[in-house]
Amino acid sequence: MLIGVIAIQGDVSEHVESLERALAERGEEAEIVTIKHKGTVPECDALIFPGGESTTLGKLLIREGIGDEIQEMKNAGKPIMGTCAGMILISKSGDEQVAKTHQHLLGLMDTTVNRNAFGRQRDSFEMELDLPFLDSPYNAVFIRAPGIVDAGADVKVLARIDDMIVAAEQSNVLAFAFHPELTLDTRVHQYFLDKLF
Ligand code: GLN
Repeated sequence: MLIGVIAIQGDVSEHVESLERALAERGEEAEIVTIKHKGTVPECDALIFPGGESTTLGKLLIREGIGDEIQEMKNAGKPIMGTCAGMILISKSGDEQVAKTHQHLLGLMDTTVNRNAFGRQRDSFEMELDLPFLDSPYNAVFIRAPGIVDAGADVKVLARIDDMIVAAEQSNVLAFAFHPELTLDTRVHQYFLDKLF
């Protein structure tokens, strides 16, 4: 098994470490590859989009020609997980800020996203979240987090904060507004790996 982590920008090493921990905990082996250029995504069995800065990430993804490869991966039904900026990029459409800056989104999920749904960097917070695939709350770290404001009928909402969707799933694609790679709790990565093993 080969798991790719998009490594153009953002908290890449944290995702790699979380994956390694999660794999060790479940006693499975997989190779993890960080991706900066075209050509590797088609070899991957699963893919993670880390958090970071979605405008930069989006531009470089397209410039490197990785966007189309990811689209094919989605169509092939392979598991894809986006966290924070990753959630923004996998959405179909965005808020005014996204439109104004002509930000490129990959549209892997039928969602409309608000890029900075919870305010600015200083408004970052942690929160105990109930997720339907876990039997106890998950301490979720939100950093200049996005939120899904609208989702199509095929999108399964996994968690909300007030009216804002902060975790969602559509067939093989998972989106989280928070950073599961910044805590030692591997349960969100395990849920992703459940789709692979
Ligand atoms: N809101 C940020 C953006 O627009 C994402 C923040 C993050 O990934 N921590 O790119």
